[in-house]
Amino acid sequence: MDATIERVWKEECGVAAVLCRDRRTPAAPLIHLALYALQHRGQESAGIAASDGRRLTAHRDLGLVAQVFTPEIILALDGWLAVGHVRYATMGSVTLANAQPIVVSSPWGPLAVAHNGNLINAPALRRALEADGCVFTSSTDTEVIAHLLARAPVSTAEEAARYCMPRLEGAFTVTVLVEDMVLGFRDRHGIRPLILGGGPNFWILASETCAFDHVGGEPLGEVEPGELVVCAAEGVRAVPVLEAPRRAHCVFEYIYFARPDTVLFHRNVHQARRRMGRILAREHPAPADLVVPVPDSGSSAAMGYAEESGLPLEIGLIKNRYIGRTFLQPSPAVRDAGVQIKLNALREVVDGRRVVLVDDSIVRGTTSSRIVALLRRAGAREVHMRVSSPPIHFPCFYGIDTSSRGQLIAATRSVEEIREQIGADSLGYLSQAGLVEALRLPTEALCMACLDGRYPTRVPTEEEAGRAALEPVAATSPSEIPEVAVWPGR
Ligand code: SF4
Repeated sequence: MDATIERVWKEECGVAAVLCRDRRTPAAPLIHLALYALQHRGQESAGIAASDGRRLTAHRDLGLVAQVFTPEIILALDGWLAVGHVRYATMGSVTLANAQPIVVSSPWGPLAVAHNGNLINAPALRRALEADGCVFTSSTDTEVIAHLLARAPVSTAEEAARYCMPRLEGAFTVTVLVEDMVLGFRDRHGIRPLILGGGPNFWILASETCAFDHVGGEPLGEVEPGELVVCAAEGVRAVPVLEAPRRAHCVFEYIYFARPDTVLFHRNVHQARRRMGRILAREHPAPADLVVPVPDSGSSAAMGYAEESGLPLEIGLIKNRYIGRTFLQPSPAVRDAGVQIKLNALREVVDGRRVVLVDDSIVRGTTSSRIVALLRRAGAREVHMRVSSPPIHFPCFYGIDTSSRGQLIAATRSVEEIREQIGADSLGYLSQAGLVEALRLPTEALCMACLDGRYPTRVPTEEEAGRAALEPVAATSPSEIPEVAVWPGR
């Protein structure tokens, strides 16, 4: 099996930006904490760019936040403005050159950009920028945004953002550090989240509210679809830029990507998942003795399933928390080893019992079949798999690494065929109606394209889709990029 096929259904990326209103407090330590909170959204690289309004310093590297930053590096990232990023690659390979924030020169001084999402017109924009003399050093769509901002034929950085937004197609949640401002903007459908928060002396923008809790901030409200938010020491302004015909919030943020303690669109993620589990129990009851979550992805939904069914919730699988997330392993062989050492079944709990196994999704089916086998080896008499999302039939082009249907088991197999393949005694998925009921949001406010094929944007061409859309590139080799890049002010 091709290694890229193993790399499916990852989180996308996490973005954050901070501005300290007293113009003295360093912003990098706050961004550093925020990135820890957003680590689940991307574990391949991390970066922070900080500035005092004149001089910008950036550090980015491959690895986890804890691996990339030392106290000395955080101290060197001087200034009261900062943007940060954690990456999982959905466009461009995993290289240091592709790590974010991307920093470019602009008429307004150095400009740092962090992006979550996927531009479906990135190849065309890039060709136009290259024809205009722009030299790219990465294969990410984020660099396309950065150069488009820097080359906008306008006189202010805010106007550059307004110029840029209508020219981008697809999913984009962007934070920018430029001059003495941080900017945040979102595509017209609001596919990926971006929330504004405030603390005693700072403004913060972040992908999830859990980042605010870590820095002592409070959510103030979502950046609206198609909106530009301008944060300055004097205050925050929200500018509607794009017409927003309909919202299309990604349902998988609720099902899987976001952290349970995050609040998205006024819905706490854990409670939403718990409701999914309750409805799942009504839709697919099982003749069983206990409910076992796949840790941690199935925990909240399993709690709901147990409450509704009256079955006891048990810890039947133990997760080794010191192993990286299984789907981050680069090769099938390593991945196989990862799955085996990551989970263990509790024989004392499952032996001789009929188990309802709850997880949030089935992508390829390989992980589910291994877990079913694990439970059977530990003596489970029956395993009834229940999934708190509907089957994933279609690829995602908005920042999730599933750009082809071939990667998705439900694209080509019936529920019965999937049951047989994973080796479960029965299999039940939450229905689309059940999902909408659990979210308590109107269907028209949601993107469910990977479930129903109704994409909120045009469907990208083959050339535009996928993580290699901007490769190969005459990229700067990682060793040529200084670890800490210092940009002189204007
Ligand atoms: S296609 Fe699926 S994963 Fe992608 S944004 Fe829409 S709901 Fe989310």
